[in-house]
Amino acid sequence: MSKNVINHTYDAVIIGAGGAGLMAALYASRSANVAVISKLYPTRSHTGAAQGGIGAALGNLEEDRWEWHAYDTVKGSDYLADQDSVDVLCKEAIETVIELEHMGLPFDRTDAGKISQRRFGGHTNNDTGKPVMRACHAADRTGHMILQTLYQQCIKNRVNFFDEYHVVDLIRVGDSVRGVVAISIITGEFHIFHSKAVLFASGGWGRCWEVTSNAHSLTGDGAAICLRRGIPLEDMEFFQFHPTGIFRLGILITEGVRGEGGVLINNEGERFMERYAPTIKDLASRDVVSRAIYLEVQAGRGINGKNYVHLDIRPETVNHYFEQAGEDRRISAAYIEEKLPDIADFTRTYLGVDPVKEPMPVQPTAHYAMGGIPTDVNGRVVIDAKNTVLPGLYAAGEVACVSVHGANRLGTNSLVDLVVFGRRAGNQMAKFCNEVELLPLPEDPTGEVMAEFERIRKNTGETKSYELRQAMQQSMTTYVGVFRTEETLTTGLEEIKRLKSRYSDIEIDDKGLLFNTDVLETWELGCLLELAEVTTVSALARKESRGAHARDDFPERNDDEWLKHTLIINEDGTYRLDYKPVTLGRYEPKPRVY
Ligand SMILES: Cc1cc2nc3c(=O)[nH]c(=O)nc-3n(C[C@H](O)[C@H](O)[C@H](O)COP(=O)(O)OP(=O)(O)OC[C@H]3O[C@@H](n4cnc5c(N)ncnc54)[C@H](O)[C@@H]3O)c2cc1C
Repeated sequence: MSKNVINHTYDAVIIGAGGAGLMAALYASRSANVAVISKLYPTRSHTGAAQGGIGAALGNLEEDRWEWHAYDTVKGSDYLADQDSVDVLCKEAIETVIELEHMGLPFDRTDAGKISQRRFGGHTNNDTGKPVMRACHAADRTGHMILQTLYQQCIKNRVNFFDEYHVVDLIRVGDSVRGVVAISIITGEFHIFHSKAVLFASGGWGRCWEVTSNAHSLTGDGAAICLRRGIPLEDMEFFQFHPTGIFRLGILITEGVRGEGGVLINNEGERFMERYAPTIKDLASRDVVSRAIYLEVQAGRGINGKNYVHLDIRPETVNHYFEQAGEDRRISAAYIEEKLPDIADFTRTYLGVDPVKEPMPVQPTAHYAMGGIPTDVNGRVVIDAKNTVLPGLYAAGEVACVSVHGANRLGTNSLVDLVVFGRRAGNQMAKFCNEVELLPLPEDPTGEVMAEFERIRKNTGETKSYELRQAMQQSMTTYVGVFRTEETLTTGLEEIKRLKSRYSDIEIDDKGLLFNTDVLETWELGCLLELAEVTTVSALARKESRGAHARDDFPERNDDEWLKHTLIINEDGTYRLDYKPVTLGRYEPKPRVY
């Protein structure tokens, strides 16, 4: 790497230009000088891939209330969510979605011209227990529309963007932060972004697993950087497997398909979710549906004995079940093309399957990190079980854990998390920047990370990073997947440690400086390996089943001992576990009823 280091000074830097980063930037830039740093061109962020919708109890098509949304979120979280944060999420969801509408987001419309809403897993009318239409959507391109709308607003408001800059370190001095270190992907030069405040909005780490809905860029850089700089990560054992990924590829088929009436069918032609969740059926929460698919496959009822089932949205199937349920709704082929155009396109392109005429082969796919950098409801990062704030450090979006999703996230609740808490974090950060002075940089802030990049670039060894990445992804899928036991997790941990020790043996092919994705992908692999390890350590310790964390050897939820958040802290390369209480509220933990 080049020895030239280029300096920039801003009030605040935001890492990530997805929904969370852009919403925070929009608000922070009203009174502070803000830079947004993104390793991707902003509109390529994963938020743009979100399909199904953004949840808000607008009640445009039927009665709904934010308190119902809050209850569903807490119940869906298996009671691990902090209920004060959930109240903020569900209450502010309504005004925030309307704010997005006013910014110009082209939502689908009802006949009366209001924002159109559809059903989604786990969202119910609390009086009847039946699914409620709460997911606001723009066809099946809701995230794309959010990202475009927010990006346009940021450009209009003259936010400073550093596109294709890869952040590789946080400058932390004791209990303060002083900025970040980044590499310009094009030139390979190091840049210091000296600032009063830093906000991580860098997204998830689905790439730890083999079959995932996540983009290649989702390597958990922000979470790993914070972990290395002594910031704990919260609830890392909870990683969501979405039930309907395209077989083998993992590409997501939105839950909106089931929201529109699609059903899951096994090899015997049975709509098996009627057995697992008799009331809410195919719209049960994701952990429940993923486990049901896994169990059907285990029982030999996968399609043709293979490890997938069918997702059927053909009008004749859907209308048959509508009729059976006494609903007067019917769908047509044209309706599917209108409401789910991208899904129809994906399955035709990637599988040669026309969803209007054939069922789609699906299997669970690693999808969403419930855990992450712990924050309060204003996006401030907290660093211990007493919720002590680290001044100047913020996090929002998937990388953060506020915790509104607890042990399992409901569909449509991530997009709303991004905008509600992105906005709060942006506001809070701007306020902080106006109150404090810029602190000086420490001596040689780039030294450590530059040395690591030199090492990766020049190292000679036997290991290729793509081989190591594949081995890690396979281990995580096999040992730290939908179902876990003491035995699988122990084997998984040994395996990850073994792979980590091979990391120092990697030799890359590209030794140059310009656009060296080889070196950056190897550095990202280092992040993934660390996150894989802390996920496994946290999962091994939690001896119960809750939400997405399903232990075959401890099949029950155990509130007496485990109604608490996990914190994992890096202390000179070894990990220490700590726990902090869950903030309860109106809803006392109840056993799960499906
Ligand atoms: C296929 C798919 C469909 C989904 N559908 C829905 C849905 O319908 N409803 C819903 O609520 N949720 C959905 N989700 C989840 C939701 O989209 C994500 O959780 C959310 O978009 C994450 O947003 P974010 O702003 O936190 O980060 P992202 O949008 O992932 O953006 C991360 C940003 O961080 C930047 N970055 C990362 N590391 C670095 C680094 N080291 N240096 C510089 N920049 C960096 C990237 O460039 C990027 O700009 C879906 C997810 C997927 C994968």
